[in-house]
Amino acid sequence: MVVGMGFDPLKWCALGVRSLRPYEPGKPIEELKRELGLEGIVKLASNENPLGPSPQVIKALENAVGGVSRYPDGGGYDLKAALSRHHSIAPESILLGSGSDHLLELIARGFLQPGANAVMSAYSFAVYSIVSVAAGAQVKVVPALTQTHPLQPFGHDLTAMSKAIDRDTRVVFIANPNNPTGTWLSDEELRSFLDTVPSHVLVALDEAYYEYVAPYEERYPNGRKLLKQYENLVVLRTFSKAYGLAGLRVGCALASPALVSVLNRLRLSFNPNALAQIGACAALSDQDHVRQSVELNHSEKLRLTRRLEALDRPYIPSVCNFVTVNVGSSGRDLYQRLLQYGVITRPLDAYGLENHLRISVGLPEENDRLFFALKDLAGRKGSHA
Ligand SMILES: *Cc1c(COP(=O)(O)O)cnc(C)c1O
Repeated sequence: MVVGMGFDPLKWCALGVRSLRPYEPGKPIEELKRELGLEGIVKLASNENPLGPSPQVIKALENAVGGVSRYPDGGGYDLKAALSRHHSIAPESILLGSGSDHLLELIARGFLQPGANAVMSAYSFAVYSIVSVAAGAQVKVVPALTQTHPLQPFGHDLTAMSKAIDRDTRVVFIANPNNPTGTWLSDEELRSFLDTVPSHVLVALDEAYYEYVAPYEERYPNGRKLLKQYENLVVLRTFSKAYGLAGLRVGCALASPALVSVLNRLRLSFNPNALAQIGACAALSDQDHVRQSVELNHSEKLRLTRRLEALDRPYIPSVCNFVTVNVGSSGRDLYQRLLQYGVITRPLDAYGLENHLRISVGLPEENDRLFFALKDLAGRKGSHA
């Protein structure tokens, strides 16, 4: 075609792509550095592990970096073997991906299309609707539990989600626990729900924050243990959170070998990349680092919520490595003000939570920076009143 003939990409792109709004990630540290000309920026915006990766990961990556001229093992043999031992599950039941985002996309592409719909809760992880819309499917957003629910404000309403499933539903997305609310579902609640799901519907159970919850909540289920009973279940895990490998992009799906083999048809042959596979193996073998990360999160989260209480800021009780705070006015406003202190948090207007701000739990000194900024801002507000 001749230049200037007017090719309109928005007109000719696939149906789902037209109405798509891209995911808005947390603001990168480097970006704020450029904007403010400031060093020592604190990022509490993307639920990353503030301790960083295990030292064993760093060593393994350093040793492996010379090998990057070779293609990765497309079958991911070593990582699958390690995950197989860790999860007590056959390697045939494991699908590797470049982050669980990639796996969510495979699920959508594999099971959704125009005419089909995906059921998900309000305030659930944004990627669920993005991958569903991109696949041309309809998104059925089910209202969450109310803000004043005694146990799980803003949590998934499984009864309503079950009712929303119809003939055309192909996928239900469940985050346990959920981001950005930090709410969770018990083993009993989840099983009761799964019992109602018809056999033509795939349930994607996203356990990105599993490691943060399991040691503290007895009634919190391990999705892997439900796979035998529910063949229509796929469980997602990631190395991006407690394992501290967000930048490497590694996740895995656990499901029946039949389901794994269908999803595997869609996977690009060499995901995850060579360094990601090696880093994930090393991370998996250092469970002490995971434990240390989870314990630090637990004590610092307690300090954060106490501080929020002292500042009279209501928050959603969270089992994750972040806390979502009701700031009583525009969350994006407070987000902008905190940027001036070099502290990056996450506004939630894209989730319909305009008055909320999500704050990841950082290192003690990082959290102190946040506390200082919050207190300073509260003081200024007082002096203007
Ligand atoms: C962070 C997160 C993920 C992980 O995404 P990756 O692509 O593995 O980095 C998945 N689901 C939820 C709910 C998350 O918050």
